[in-house]
Amino acid sequence: MRGVLVRLTEAWAEILQRRADAANSYPLPVQQLLGEMVAAATLMQANIKFNGALILQIFGDGPVKLAVAEVQPDFSLRATATIMGEVEATATLSTLVNVNNEGKCAITLDPKSRLPGQQPYQGVVPLFGDQREKLEQLSEVLEHYMLQSEQLDTTLVLAADDKVAAGLLIQRLPLQGTGNLGGAAQRDEDQIGVNEDYKRIAMLAGTLKREELLTLDAQTILRRLFWEESLTHFEPLTGDAGPRFACSCGRERVGRMILGLGEPEAQSILAEMGEVDVGCDFCGAHYRFDAIDVAQIFRQTGEVPPASERVQ
Ligand SMILES: [Zn+2]
Repeated sequence: MRGVLVRLTEAWAEILQRRADAANSYPLPVQQLLGEMVAAATLMQANIKFNGALILQIFGDGPVKLAVAEVQPDFSLRATATIMGEVEATATLSTLVNVNNEGKCAITLDPKSRLPGQQPYQGVVPLFGDQREKLEQLSEVLEHYMLQSEQLDTTLVLAADDKVAAGLLIQRLPLQGTGNLGGAAQRDEDQIGVNEDYKRIAMLAGTLKREELLTLDAQTILRRLFWEESLTHFEPLTGDAGPRFACSCGRERVGRMILGLGEPEAQSILAEMGEVDVGCDFCGAHYRFDAIDVAQIFRQTGEVPPASERVQ
């Protein structure tokens, strides 16, 4: 088995603070959802060690229209949510993003250096279970996704509040390779849902309570859950090597976005507003372009970005 535990405090506080500075603070149910997404995206990035951005998105059909958590291979991360409408204090996953059972969750892997014409890989899963019943835990949604995409038993426990975003991921490793050099393990143990060791570990992980995940340090959690198991610990990644807030927005990128709008559209915004002001939803930065800046953007003809370029 492989396990990853994440506990975000400063990075999570910064995401919430930047939102509070730029707009209205997220209501508590949205903080819980977005915090769980940030924790989950960090766990998934740590688990697959992908050389590019891992982007977890929920396209909601309720008051939360979009929620995004993005984690880079160096664990710099950012997140944002778009809210339209009233969020009840008691809102759940379904009342936030899956009112008509049309909410979707997308996991995108965007390679750092993409070959020409190469598209990012994206997997999309619904927010309902096998019987189309609405799921109320993001962890269940993502377990479905990981079972489909990786064909490996996976258990996720997630929790977040206004101070901490935390999660635990347990995954059964395939028996092939170094784990089964002697060929001692039976092949049928490698099927989904049959491995007894995995079932035991997953059951233990499942006893972890939300409160424990939010309030206890990693060592205490691991000791409480797995004191009878033999564990190999790795050094926690903290500080500059660990998860931390960073935004990849920039003036040049916004310039390319304005170029994508086309000159008539940009000129009409200029005429109406006096400048083109583009705000970043992730970090709150503002990029302002006056008439001279805009003219300069469109004077550089022949530098139109290819249609496949992702513009944020
Ligand atoms: Zn930004």
